[in-house]
Amino acid sequence: MTLGNGSAPNNRYISILPGATALTIAGSDPSGGAGLQADLKTFQQLGVYGMSVVTLITVQNTQSVRHVEVLSPELIASQFEAVIEDIPPRAVKTGALGNSNVVQAVAEKLADLDCPIIVDPVMVSKHGDALVDEDVIRAYKQYLLPHTYLVTPNRFEAEQLTGLTLDSEQAAAKAIHQLHSLGARYVLIKLGEIKGQSQHVLGLGAENKGLHTVHLNNNNTHGTGCILSAAIAAKLALGETNIETAVLFGIHRTHEAIYTNTGLGHGIHPAEIRGMLRD
Ligand code: PLP
Repeated sequence: MTLGNGSAPNNRYISILPGATALTIAGSDPSGGAGLQADLKTFQQLGVYGMSVVTLITVQNTQSVRHVEVLSPELIASQFEAVIEDIPPRAVKTGALGNSNVVQAVAEKLADLDCPIIVDPVMVSKHGDALVDEDVIRAYKQYLLPHTYLVTPNRFEAEQLTGLTLDSEQAAAKAIHQLHSLGARYVLIKLGEIKGQSQHVLGLGAENKGLHTVHLNNNNTHGTGCILSAAIAAKLALGETNIETAVLFGIHRTHEAIYTNTGLGHGIHPAEIRGMLRD
């Protein structure tokens, strides 16, 4: 049997759009729901060519993280160099970085890169398991935030980075101000569920904007932080220059991903980023 007749593939399905390349620097989730696997799936589904620099290996499934092993800063830096000299990314996102030495090494590499850098300061898994050591917070502040285009902490991560308790709008505004002062050009704090809404505050420098969706009360949330920051990176890699448009796109695609029930696994089901068909 001969498969394929040499003719052009079905053009209805989205393919990689010219020049749209994105790099994730993140940890591996072998069960595929979070980490670099979620990032690469998100890039691909949105028409962006994805690349990955592995920072750490987790042993996990949808139920728990059993073990974490962080790679050496040298190995991480050399993966980065190999990729960058060959295929320049149009956007970069970082996920779990493991420890302060890795944060510093990654920040040094990213300092010379001429594209938006989105930092998802991943600290714990959805099950509450630590994915980084304690020292990492100082390193984020000292080394990585000065090179950050957009930082996307959840409430817990924002509290760790700022030392504030985010129990009011004023406190969120204070935290955003602090993160801008540390060097992040834009700040997106994911506050989580408040009065039936999934609430986010976007710090644009001159003003803050509340961006909310209906909160979906289901169990399909493994990987949602990764999907959100990867979708924003993908939108920027596709050429979007307005940060608010890119963030709104990411929030909508993540909302859809949570709505879509993979039903997979016996723990927190992976959210499923949907692909696109051409018109
Ligand atoms: N990165 C890795 C390697 C992980 O294992 C996890 C969670 O388990 C995350 C990131 C964060 O996942 P989420 O997007 O569910 O917050």
